[in-house]
Amino acid sequence: MKKPAEVACPQCSKKVIWSTANTYRPFCSERCKLMDLGQWATGGYSIPVTDNFSNESINTVSSSDENLM
Ligand SMILES: [Zn+2]
Repeated sequence: MKKPAEVACPQCSKKVIWSTANTYRPFCSERCKLMDLGQWATGGYSIPVTDNFSNESINTVSSSDENLM
């Protein structure tokens, strides 16, 4: 007798039988799968907007054309 492999759902920690019949593996249901995908899309990867560039770093290059006359 073979024991069916069980995994814990990453979303709700519910025991799920790991089988090819379970299309939502390793999740227990479609709901948990979608919830996990939603977390990846919205949370975690929030890129902070750095809008504090100092203009002092930009040097205005003055051309010395008048000296070439
Ligand atoms: Zn679940």
